[in-house]
Amino acid sequence: MNHHIALRRRVDRSSRSRRVNVPRRDAHAVVIGGSIAGLLASRVLADYFDTVTIFEKDHLVDSAEPRMGVPQGRHVHSIWKRGLSLMEESFPGLTSELIEGGSAEVEMTSDFAWYHRGVWKLRVPSGIFITCQTRPFLEWQIRRRVCQISNIDLVDHCHVKRFVTDATAQRITGVAVQSRRAGATEETVSADLVVDASGRGSRTPRWLEELGYGRPDMSVIDVDVGYATRFYARPPHEDCPWKALIVAPTPPDGTRLGVIFPVEGQRWIVMLGGWNGDHPPRDEDGLLEFARNLEAPDIYTFMREAEPLTPIAGYKFRANVRRHYERMRRFPGGLIVLGDSLCSFNPIYGQGMTTSALDAMTLRECLDRAVHRGESLDAMAHHFLKRVPRRLDAPWRLAAGEDMNWPGTQGDAPFGTPFMNWYFGRVHALAARDPQVLVRFVRVANMIDSPVRIFHPRVLAPVLTRSTRVAPSP
Ligand SMILES: Cc1cc2nc3c(=O)[nH]c(=O)nc-3n(C[C@H](O)[C@H](O)[C@H](O)COP(=O)(O)OP(=O)(O)OC[C@H]3O[C@@H](n4cnc5c(N)ncnc54)[C@H](O)[C@@H]3O)c2cc1C
Repeated sequence: MNHHIALRRRVDRSSRSRRVNVPRRDAHAVVIGGSIAGLLASRVLADYFDTVTIFEKDHLVDSAEPRMGVPQGRHVHSIWKRGLSLMEESFPGLTSELIEGGSAEVEMTSDFAWYHRGVWKLRVPSGIFITCQTRPFLEWQIRRRVCQISNIDLVDHCHVKRFVTDATAQRITGVAVQSRRAGATEETVSADLVVDASGRGSRTPRWLEELGYGRPDMSVIDVDVGYATRFYARPPHEDCPWKALIVAPTPPDGTRLGVIFPVEGQRWIVMLGGWNGDHPPRDEDGLLEFARNLEAPDIYTFMREAEPLTPIAGYKFRANVRRHYERMRRFPGGLIVLGDSLCSFNPIYGQGMTTSALDAMTLRECLDRAVHRGESLDAMAHHFLKRVPRRLDAPWRLAAGEDMNWPGTQGDAPFGTPFMNWYFGRVHALAARDPQVLVRFVRVANMIDSPVRIFHPRVLAPVLTRSTRVAPSP
């Protein structure tokens, strides 16, 4: 077939160091979707397979453009420290490249002004730095690095239409694809491993059902969140008391959130959002009025004075969705599902890209294990299927549990949610005046530390003993 290879630049193949135990010499992995999860997974696969082919249905350009297949790309995408560190491990030098390209480096506690549950968090250093940029810019920088890996082919403008199986449908043996260029017909591409990274709208449940496997169980937490986003000019010498600003609501009555982040191109990205159907309007006056009703006035004041650069973009997000492939009675060999295809979180908590990076890390661990034990690819995929849900439990519990603070949220609360929400409520209050509590919370939120660490005696003791009276604004 005539693969159109977008943005490909072949360099030496020495990055490949290990081989998986497949019966052929030319082991081939196919990845469905060239977004964050697909790119990060491809980087891992390139170390184990002779060739990796990513099929992406969108036409990709060599710049930071929003695109149809990733409509969320127009909205704020914060990356937690753990996610950024994993990306840096996969692509050494990426953080510097982001900063050189215009991303803003921000210290998570001293540079952030963060109003949460009726109080401003302390502004003390934590030593945790992240970069702020738009989602298309981050994806583009990662894509450029992926395209420098000689055994990865990125085939854009090409739709994966279904899985192809062996005669008994026990194993996925490839995909049927169709280029979106004029006159193209459907073709079959063989693969030793197929990775579904096609996002929240993944067709894997439907394709598995058509193959006789049935659909996976789903956990659904319906939050009915709405976003409105706009870019504003960021003058080079602006005298701002913060580098980034978050005004979060106090549940159950407060449902409105506002965020201002610096991004590349000397711009601010401003996002307003609301839970349980309280969506920001997309007209100028309505948006300002929504901002005026946030719990602190800072974002409203900012928006009244700043120079808008774009129209207002909207997005509606209905529910956190987790697909439990690990519970299926039968699951075919040769298939991995990761990223938003597997679990998509309420975006307000900014966990999706970091979780995609953790999924890619889990894939690497499973491939490594298979290499060392001489296991088959199907054993590797089975191990991934069982292992990855354990990594998802913590972010799922944080997102789904937090969403349960709003009475309009529908779904099964994770076990222990009322206690966790009571506990975190006190942690948030104490983070306004106890630096240790603040930094420990921020480390958990950034997924650097496991949520268990929030029960460290240095947090537990004040939570249980100190008053959480509201502190005055700074
Ligand atoms: C409004 C919003 C805001 C968000 N904010 C944040 C944030 O602040 N921080 C954060 O970490 N995460 C955030 N997320 C989540 C984040 O966008 C995702 O978790 C992240 O992009 C990883 O998703 P993915 O790569 O699995 O899927 P996606 O990014 O959805 O990409 C799927 C890709 O697959 C392609 N594709 C789909 N079907 C096919 C097919 N059949 N054939 C070929 N290609 C196909 C699509 O074109 C697309 O490129 C947000 C999400 C939303 C909705």
